[in-house]
Amino acid sequence: MTAAACLEEYAKGNPNAFSATHVFSNSAGTRIIDGSKIKCWTKHANGKHSNQTLAQALNNSCNPIFTDIALSLGKEVMYDYLNKFGYGKATGIDFLGEQSGLLVAESAVTRGDLARIGFGQTIAVTPLQLCMATAAAVNGGLLMQPYLVKEISDPTTNQVVQRFYPTMVNRVISQQTSGQIAKMLQGVVADGGGKNAYIEGYQVGGKTGTAQKFVNGALAQGKYVSSFVGFFPASSPKYLCLFIVDEPQGQSYGSIVAAPYAGLIFREIINYKQIEPME
Ligand SMILES: [Zn+2]
Repeated sequence: MTAAACLEEYAKGNPNAFSATHVFSNSAGTRIIDGSKIKCWTKHANGKHSNQTLAQALNNSCNPIFTDIALSLGKEVMYDYLNKFGYGKATGIDFLGEQSGLLVAESAVTRGDLARIGFGQTIAVTPLQLCMATAAAVNGGLLMQPYLVKEISDPTTNQVVQRFYPTMVNRVISQQTSGQIAKMLQGVVADGGGKNAYIEGYQVGGKTGTAQKFVNGALAQGKYVSSFVGFFPASSPKYLCLFIVDEPQGQSYGSIVAAPYAGLIFREIINYKQIEPME
């Protein structure tokens, strides 16, 4: 979401936003925000995380760059996008018991919080919200209301008595920005952290996530929630899969424990729907 906000704000002329070709020159692997340390998942030793563009930062899952973007855009802009993407409120799906997730109130958010929100921490997002927001980022920029029931028919006559259709909630980013994001996320699968979900000819896009768990209000050592959210085909997305692994053992990165399984699910969809490769 931070990448989408960044590109959309740049297109709108916001001087605090960065273009797709901007090179982030702060190549350090850590940031100190109000006394607290934010680290990249890897030590910036081999130069791979140096002088990155936004696309490279996505490929590398480089948290410090998303920290820089969130702080540069500022609280008001970031919250504008968090709200537009549907975070912190129920999606309104046609199913009982939905949670709304947790978003720190804008009035209470600290710079440290904002920095972490930049790479997806400090907010509790429901899986459905993450799917809904990712879909909006790549489908042309429209936040769509998720729904389960397509139609209701009378059991005796088989006549359809009610039909449900896709409903738009709001536009979050322009079609052009959405196209840029989908392409960048396709790059993450082609040659970044999502490459275990790659399927030749099907333009799979996606993003990995690895979050440390909080237990009793503190970061729990060695306890992670690892995920991968993927979609295809990137040029006109139709299918989306979020694969979450709660407390993986041994390996903890979403790229290793989640991405391959999203790839397997996509292969099943391709077989089932007999979808032809695109190139
Ligand atoms: Zn990094």
